[in-house]
Amino acid sequence: MSRDQKTVIEREIRRRRLNLMLKCIICVLIFGSAGLGAWLVYDTNFKDHSNPWTESGKAAGEKAPDQEAAEGSVSGDAPADDGQAAEDGSGNDEGGASDAAVPADEGSLEAQANRMAAQYDYDGAISLLRGQPGYDRNDRFKNLVSTYEQTKASCSPYPIDQITHVFFHSLVYDTSKAFDGDAYEAGYNQVMTTVSEMNSILQQMYNRGFVMISLHDMVEFDEAGNLSKKEVLLPPGKTPFVLSQDDCSYYHYMDGDGFPQKLVVTDDGKVKNSYLEDDGSVSIGDYDVVPIVDTFVEQHPDFSYHGHKGILALTGYEGVLGYRTDEVYKTRQEDRVTDFQREFFANNPDFNFDNEVAEAKKVADAMKAEGWEFASHTWGHINPRTYSMESLQRDSDRWANWVVPIVGPTDVLIFAFGADIGDWQPYSMSNEYFAHYKSMGFRIFCNVDASAKYWVQIGQDYLRQARRNLDGYRMYYTPDLISDLFDVDQAWDDSRPTPVPQM
Ligand SMILES: [Zn+2]
Repeated sequence: MSRDQKTVIEREIRRRRLNLMLKCIICVLIFGSAGLGAWLVYDTNFKDHSNPWTESGKAAGEKAPDQEAAEGSVSGDAPADDGQAAEDGSGNDEGGASDAAVPADEGSLEAQANRMAAQYDYDGAISLLRGQPGYDRNDRFKNLVSTYEQTKASCSPYPIDQITHVFFHSLVYDTSKAFDGDAYEAGYNQVMTTVSEMNSILQQMYNRGFVMISLHDMVEFDEAGNLSKKEVLLPPGKTPFVLSQDDCSYYHYMDGDGFPQKLVVTDDGKVKNSYLEDDGSVSIGDYDVVPIVDTFVEQHPDFSYHGHKGILALTGYEGVLGYRTDEVYKTRQEDRVTDFQREFFANNPDFNFDNEVAEAKKVADAMKAEGWEFASHTWGHINPRTYSMESLQRDSDRWANWVVPIVGPTDVLIFAFGADIGDWQPYSMSNEYFAHYKSMGFRIFCNVDASAKYWVQIGQDYLRQARRNLDGYRMYYTPDLISDLFDVDQAWDDSRPTPVPQM
């Protein structure tokens, strides 16, 4: 082989090597960018976008419940900004930190929109995202909006006149104290529900597709008082229901019987109960309907329609929500003070009426922010038809003067004793009780009747609905009447004495 030939071959080998190296580099570039492209397509179009809002707490900007609980128990006071990002959409350094592909404020917006859609407020979720600057270029948002639109299209309006309504009294927290053989045991056993029963009822109703709505989701009234029906739009398999709680006053007679003291607002704005322990310490927790439902909806947002919760039917004569806010606690008028109230004043020498009213208002405001509403149960827990019109007016005035300033105005009257102001026939202005309550601003009236699954009467200027008591008496004697809601055998608290006393 000549030197020239050798040089040519060597040159040829070098050229091929260079070629191979170039090909390798090109291959790496091609595969690399293909991979990057595929990841981008996946991330913007497929990742968690199929039905992301149905999973609670997983969306960016929200913490896992146990993470939150752990933080709360370690620090004692959870940070006040917890979850705020989802509320106001302003975002903070926590929101979206777990998802590097989404800027913090976008992550919290997404979480907020997802939560709205999970609570069947598709229009709200859609307009929230569409209203963001740069929406047209945001594939993530556009994708979410189209899934919201698809889900909304699968929904249908539920018949307003077939909506059921269930109610509870204060829940028994410590059954050994409520069912201790004293004079009140029979009453508690008949008309109250225990905390463990409530937990089971909520879980079972949720599993069966029940969704909590407000009475004000059913109808609305114009300024002249004329009713028009609204639309409750739900996906297939979902059933709306109204939840109410009566007499959430923590009356004096219940002291020491295993019930909470009152509702309180924690540092992070949540509504909880305080409970006086045997050793004199005070525990804060979920011991009654309001905080139990709040916690349940935090974990299962789709149990609540548009974030709406229950309605509390309040009296006024011993204050509201565990606060002693009635006139008599201010005036201590001799001929009106009861023995219970005398004992209360003796045991609470530092009682300050104005502070009490301010605290009660704080709780009521926090509850309204969480989706709760208030109804009148009459100030004095009265059956109107056993009262003269003059006495009725005095009762309504006391409601207006001593309860409305705390909980705000309401157009809902939930009768005490399951009473009503008429028979099954429609109300009319010739009924003086109806005329009275209409003049006081009431438009929605609820009695008690568990004989049917639902009973709704839609008048021209009022709505009337029957309620079903989910208490010891109902569960013990006629469990079949509530079997559409839950299985009593699963819910029943064995610490109840049986038989439940006859009424
Ligand atoms: Zn009552």
